[in-house]
Amino acid sequence: MRLDNQTGFDGRFLRKLVTEAHRQLAESEGRLEQWKRTRIEIVYCRANHAGGSSGYAFLKGTLARIRIARRATFTRVFKVVWHELLHLYGYDHSHMRGGGYPSEDRISRAAERLGIDVASTIPVLVRISSPRPGIRERRLERLIARRATWESKRKRAENALAKITRQITYYERVIAAKGVGREGES
Ligand SMILES: [Zn+2]
Repeated sequence: MRLDNQTGFDGRFLRKLVTEAHRQLAESEGRLEQWKRTRIEIVYCRANHAGGSSGYAFLKGTLARIRIARRATFTRVFKVVWHELLHLYGYDHSHMRGGGYPSEDRISRAAERLGIDVASTIPVLVRISSPRPGIRERRLERLIARRATWESKRKRAENALAKITRQITYYERVIAAKGVGREGES
């Protein structure tokens, strides 16, 4: 079974939930023949009304789509998964007594195995945000970069000033020497 989780719900939890539904069904129905090739697609309910969830699957097929509302309970989702798995086994609604849902007993057994309360909502994957450098750290970095730029400009300015000073000294000497010469001639 391949789980294609297109929601923010914890995929590992959903996988356990689906596997548990199949495990319980297999007790009476045997393993689903096409289990290995089966794809369970998890999407959000389009109309995200509280608690609602639904699904569809082809009879004896290899694809079941489960729509889960953001606030759906474990019980609700387990029931939907169970129902869609029955379709994969080849049962249509005329074969399903009581809507093709698991008994309360089966639901609480599953919840217990997964360590969740039957009335709890499905766990959501917690995203660990990458630690961003704080605003002060980023400002400090920028200031250090700006200081390096100005230090290099200062070095170039000092070199230019030193060169100009040498040239001034040179021309002052030359002019002074010529000036002395001219005076001497006249
Ligand atoms: Zn159905």
